[in-house]
Amino acid sequence: MKFIDEYQDSELAKRLAHRIATQTTKTIRLMEFCGGHTHAIMKHGIRQLVPKTVEMRSGPGCPVCVTATADLDKAIALAHLPNVIITTFGDMMRVPGSYSSLQQSKAEGADIRIVYSIIDAVGIAKANPEKSVIFIGIGFETTAPTIAASILKAQQQKIQNFHVLSLNKLTPPVMKALLDLGDVKLDGIICPGHVSVIIGSHPYEFIPKNYGIACVISGFEPLDILLCIDRLVEQIENDQPKVEIAYPRGVKPEGNRKALQLMEKVFELGEANWRGVGTVPQSGLNIRRKYERFDADRAFSVSLKPPREPKGCRCGDVVRGAATPPECKLFGKACTPESPVGPCMVSSEGACAAYYQYGSLENSQTF
Ligand code: SF4
Repeated sequence: MKFIDEYQDSELAKRLAHRIATQTTKTIRLMEFCGGHTHAIMKHGIRQLVPKTVEMRSGPGCPVCVTATADLDKAIALAHLPNVIITTFGDMMRVPGSYSSLQQSKAEGADIRIVYSIIDAVGIAKANPEKSVIFIGIGFETTAPTIAASILKAQQQKIQNFHVLSLNKLTPPVMKALLDLGDVKLDGIICPGHVSVIIGSHPYEFIPKNYGIACVISGFEPLDILLCIDRLVEQIENDQPKVEIAYPRGVKPEGNRKALQLMEKVFELGEANWRGVGTVPQSGLNIRRKYERFDADRAFSVSLKPPREPKGCRCGDVVRGAATPPECKLFGKACTPESPVGPCMVSSEGACAAYYQYGSLENSQTF
């Protein structure tokens, strides 16, 4: 606990906030890419600690939120195939698809099981050889190596009935897509800590180089985030954008080579469909042909009706940082965590859920 406490020291936090305030001379806009950062920022009142000149926007770093409705519809359709067991993370259950949800499908009799790790899904496949077990693979570079390892394990153990619907996505390509869309002007990016443990700092270098935007990789404790903002403000004020690591206890510039090799072995790059952003080339992880028998996309065919977005929901704008959750007319009224309209209110990493949960702390600092 002592270790964590060091990163939550309120006196140090105030000193850092003061340093940020004294060096900022102009209005700037930062985006925290990661949903984990959004929740930490809201929970600890960091928006209130930094000066009003530092505007903060949430980005597309919540895996459930960026899963396109069409992909969710596919997962729901797979659940209704005979002799299929769907395994998924809990957050996916309540996300409304176009016409149903996984939760509704389960209530209708589909065999859908919540797992905490893909390893559990492999275990379910082993225990149910007469059924096809499909894992709904969502997440970024953080989860992809484990999925790759599980596919290799299933191959090694000759588990024939295990499949993955790979909806996994990559971070740098969607950052590029967001910047190219240009509907949100940014001065700096709080780069995701966990993703960067895997990919390192080099993949972000195109951002300062081609877009002139500062990038600092942050951990998840309040002091990590404040230090990251301090580094970003300094880069922006000095007009010297670059990639910096403010989370050296977790991230090395080269990343985790072993994890990257695992991903490379099992996956190849392909396009992916992102909620709010659309199709982004080279941002998806498709299972290589060599492992095609594990690929749910190749093993099963389902017919789908055209996707429909929840009426009035602005999750697409929220994940792009083009709107904050309270700018959605449904926020806190028709849409609450008990009765969510869109994925950003369902997911534990969703921006709407964070604003709803911690919005009452708007004027307080909690560490
Ligand atoms: Fe969607 Fe609800 Fe967020 Fe509005 S408040 S953007 S409806 S999740």
